Amino acid sequence: MHELGIVFQIIKQVEDVAKANNVKSVKEVTLEIGEVSGIVPKYLTDAWGWACEHRSTLMKECKLNIITLKAKSFCTNCETAYDTLKFAKVCPNCGSNKTYLLTGKETNLKDIKVED
Ligand SMILES: [Zn+2]
Repeated sequence: MHELGIVFQIIKQVEDVAKANNVKSVKEVTLEIGEVSGIVPKYLTDAWGWACEHRSTLMKECKLNIITLKAKSFCTNCETAYDTLKFAKVCPNCGSNKTYLLTGKETNLKDIKVED
């Protein structure tokens, strides 16, 4: 499962930060996930629960929050940004297909809450 690999990467990142700061327990992690990243939030949450329970001591009860980032594309012909999910690769403003994805593929570690 694709999501499990992502979860392992994120847990490693969080644990590295936690260890560097002498944190004993991480309570909550917030991720930003792009709409066209290919990640299914439900799978990610399931994989998260399993991985925190079995593969991490610092993050046993860690909660995962997911913020979805809207996918935006940009048209180089008329220099307009538009909603990727609605219009895909064709610009709704001028009909050009000289477009590229601005945002929507990212997975960002946004916030970490630790035990006081
Ligand atoms: Zn355009």
